[in-house]
Amino acid sequence: MTGALRRVLVVGASLAGLRAADRLRAGGFDGELTVVGAEPHLPYDRPPLSKRQLATDDPAESTTLRLPDGLGARWLTGVPAVGLDPDGRTVKLADGQELGWDGLVIATGAAARGWHGPVPAGVHTLRGRDDAVALRAGLRAGRRLVVVGAGFLGGEIAATARACGLEVTLVEAAEQPLARAVGAEAGGYLAELHRESGIVLRTGVTVTAFHGEPGLTGVTLSDGTELPADLAVLALGAVPHTGWLAGAGLAPDGGLDCDPYLRALRADGSVLPGVVAAGDVVRWPHPLAGGARVTLGHWSNAVEQAATAAHTLLHPDEPQPFTGVPSFWSDLHGVKLHSVGLPAFADRAEVLEHDLPGRRLEIAYHRAGRLVGALTVNRVGRLAGYRRELHEALLR
Ligand SMILES: Cc1cc2nc3c(=O)[nH]c(=O)nc-3n(C[C@H](O)[C@H](O)[C@H](O)COP(=O)(O)OP(=O)(O)OC[C@H]3O[C@@H](n4cnc5c(N)ncnc54)[C@H](O)[C@@H]3O)c2cc1C
Repeated sequence: MTGALRRVLVVGASLAGLRAADRLRAGGFDGELTVVGAEPHLPYDRPPLSKRQLATDDPAESTTLRLPDGLGARWLTGVPAVGLDPDGRTVKLADGQELGWDGLVIATGAAARGWHGPVPAGVHTLRGRDDAVALRAGLRAGRRLVVVGAGFLGGEIAATARACGLEVTLVEAAEQPLARAVGAEAGGYLAELHRESGIVLRTGVTVTAFHGEPGLTGVTLSDGTELPADLAVLALGAVPHTGWLAGAGLAPDGGLDCDPYLRALRADGSVLPGVVAAGDVVRWPHPLAGGARVTLGHWSNAVEQAATAAHTLLHPDEPQPFTGVPSFWSDLHGVKLHSVGLPAFADRAEVLEHDLPGRRLEIAYHRAGRLVGALTVNRVGRLAGYRRELHEALLR
């Protein structure tokens, strides 16, 4: 089964990379396994970084992911891969090392989108453990925080900071938070939750400038408003880490294109033998999106894709398509929000329950008359049915 596979290299030492390594071993791979990571840390979990880690003094190490017993992997952390030679089957690292492989798993995830120019001290992004430590140090009651972007991450950061007693302004370019991702109904619901908590939500405007030297003193909005600020967070979305693949003939931006078996594709669409990918870096055609190529920044997607990618590497002649149902959760203002499927690709949102005081919400999303997603607040029991229906749709 794994005869031709003696050396597997995993690039990206986070959730997808760790899970791929684990699934390779579970699938019988007993050869040399090396995991390369740009960060100095062993794999850790990111969801707590915008929640518990910002609100408490829990040590940063509390997010470390457990390494499975007997994994037998060599960990090269703190050294990014800088180049891939797909024909010579090597990966080059920033310290000059060149690592050979028979099988390669690309799990380099994504980075936080930054600002287009220099910013004063006190303007943060949040993607990694070190970012969370830096941001947490500035979250003191009474300080004025501007969060730029009211997506899930921006919303969580704003909610957590507000709960810590900061004066928070949440700035969103669209007319509603998350309108493009989950529609106006859910966006309006979230907007109310933000406002009820005392967050000042400014929609339909953008931040055009940050002021202060060396530290932040304020921001300018596109409508001319000047907001004093001690601290700001850019929550402008994620950019897949594909720069190191640019010389290898793989899509250099917007995600690494893969087929449904999570085999990496060259720019001409042909399969790159022996190379698979998993997690936030992957872009693949999604049936629920009508075949449009998507990238997903979902924890469960990274875990489930890692299993499919490992299987594809171990069984190149019997690959199985990835059929995971997209699934995401968010914790903010004391509510549990869940989404399954791809609400962003719906043409109709059916609101089944909308109860702001009772903190409940249930919306089903349809496209051309078929279910493509659902979103609930504090209605976790409703998800299994949606998930089942979506899974059946993915198997069709
Ligand atoms: C603050 C935060 C909160 C989140 N909350 C939720 C949530 O509530 N619910 C949910 O479903 N999802 C959440 N997510 C998303 C979830 O954490 C991600 O989907 C998941 O981490 C993806 O795992 P990954 O391994 O694909 O990528 P990542 O976790 O991004 O890991 C990629 C790793 O590869 C490394 N790397 C990059 N380039 C190179 C290179 N050239 N060489 C070597 N290594 C490299 C990176 O340093 C990184 O360690 C959250 C994410 C963040 C950042």
